[in-house]
This record gives sequence, structure tokens and C-alpha cells, in this order.
Amino acid sequence: MITFFSGGTGTPKLLRGVQRVMDRHEISVVVNTAEDIWISGNHISPDLDTVMYLFSGVLNTDTWWGIRNDTFTTHEDTKKMGIDEFVAIGEHDRAVHIARGEMLRKGMRLTNVTKILCDRFGVRENVLPMTDTEVNTLVKTDLGLIHFQEYWVKAKGALEIYEVVRKFTAPPAASEEVLAAIEASDVVVIGPSNPITSILPILECNGIKPAIKNKSVIAISPFIGDAAVSGPAAALMKARGFEPSSKGTLSCYNEFVDIFVQDIRDPINVPNSFRYDTIMIDEEKSTALAREILRLSKEC
Ligand code: GDP
Repeated sequence: MITFFSGGTGTPKLLRGVQRVMDRHEISVVVNTAEDIWISGNHISPDLDTVMYLFSGVLNTDTWWGIRNDTFTTHEDTKKMGIDEFVAIGEHDRAVHIARGEMLRKGMRLTNVTKILCDRFGVRENVLPMTDTEVNTLVKTDLGLIHFQEYWVKAKGALEIYEVVRKFTAPPAASEEVLAAIEASDVVVIGPSNPITSILPILECNGIKPAIKNKSVIAISPFIGDAAVSGPAAALMKARGFEPSSKGTLSCYNEFVDIFVQDIRDPINVPNSFRYDTIMIDEEKSTALAREILRLSKEC
């Protein structure tokens, strides 16, 4: 068994390959939920949705969010009613958010809700939210302290970030299912996700650090030089006081990582790292990298 720590783009690209080279029942994924948000009364969990849709084969892999060939009539109609859903939500996607919202309102744990939704989508991998309680990543900008989604989706990332803040009412704790998955795993893989908005929220959940302390941990960099492969990771790294690079990425995870992987094109040299082509532009590239990670995991 391998447990992967995932956000909603970089690691899912790796998981697309992992699905091809591992038995599905041997794959556990602990997914970031710090970007979750309620919109129009429904519960969006962008990273959980992406991982679930990927494993069920319905993910729109042009955008890495939403369901392929979804329609947006409700989204357009709500706009006409004066409701600004700043995230474009398709009909099929919305059904998931409605179902999740309903189950959460009834008091169910997000872990159980995720299991039910994954079963309905025919997902056989073990997909787990990092925690069952609410935690949000907020960023301090000239518009004040705003939800990360408002910064990245609504403001299209065109704001300076002065600070990254994690907001919660109770300190988030890893669920017992997450801890059991890690315990049952030989190796933990920190995928090439945004360290600040996707991976650190997982590592910050109570129980995670002691759980991975004695595990072999492989981490893959989402940076080439001083730029992320995509998305706002560089600005967030700077705002949190980390160098926006592979070196900075490793310093986020330093105390746990046994094997660090960076791209063959990366001009920043991290001593003792393994170098592969990590740009997963298609399924073949995802599968090739997944094969290398699986091989490394056997050497740990
Ligand atoms: P989010 O939840 O949508 O922000 O997605 P993640 O946190 O999972 O992934 C975002 C990170 O993935 C960005 O920092 C990118 O640099 C990285 N990324 C995206 N595609 C690739 C890729 O093909 N290779 C690598 N190495 N990193 C990637």
C-alpha cells in the first residue's frame, strides 16, 4: 500500500499514472480540504472532487477540475438572477456538491460522505479527506483577508499576497481512517502539489507528522527554477517565507523526506535528489513518472 498526499492538480496528474501501474486497492490518497467552500448552499471540495472524478474516469483533464462534457445552464441562470457564483459549476458537478452539502448538514463526517460519493462513482481507491472538520486557507491582500478561492478564481490571482492564514474553529486533526491508511502503507508520497495550499494543510493536521515520522517518504517538486509548473505556488511560498523553488519545497518537508524528486530541467540543484521528467502533459508521461516513483518506493 502507498499513501499519497494530494491537492487538485499536480498530484492528480501523477495519480493518473499510478492508477495504471498499481493495484487500485493498494492506493490511498489523503486529500487537502483547506480549499473547501460553500457556494449557493452546496459544498465544494475542489481537491476531493478532482481526485474522485479522476479515479472514476469522468474528470475534465483539460482543466483538472469538473466533469468532462458537463453543462453550465444552472450556473448561467443563477448569474441572470444576480447570484455571483465565482466558480463555474457544471450540472453533474453541482449534483455532487448538493449531495455532499445535504449529508454534511445531516451531521455526517466528511470521511463517510466521501466514501458514499466514491462508491457511487465506482471508485475503488481509498480516497480520504485530510480531516473531518473545517479548515480554510485565507490570504491577506489589498482586498483584506479573503478565501484562497476568491484570490485564485475570482481575482484570477492578480493580487499581491502579504500573508497566508489557516482558519479553523477547532485545530484540524487527521481522521482515524487517514492514520490507519498511513500505518498500513510502506511508503508515503508527497505529490507535486502546491506546498502552501495543498500539502502543508495536510501536514498541519494533528497526528500526521508522528504518523509519517517512521515511514519512508518520497516528495516530488512542483517547481522548475523559480517558477511553479502552473498556478500561484511561487507567490504563496514567498508570502510564507519560503524560497519559491525545489530547494524551498524541500525545506517545507525537510524533516520527513527520504527521497526528493525534481525535474530533469530544473536549474536549481538539490543535493542527492533524483531527476526525472516530471512534466505530465499526457497519460504516458504520468505513467512513466508513476513507474519511477513505484520503483523508488521499492528501494526505500
Ligand atoms: P491545486 O489544488 O489545484 O492548487 O493543485 P495542486 O496543489 O495539486 O497542484 C498545483 C501544483 O502542481 C502547482 O504548484 C504546479 O507547479 C504543480 N504541477 C502541475 N502540473 C505539474 C506537472 O506536470 N509536473 C510537476 N512537477 N508539477 C506540476
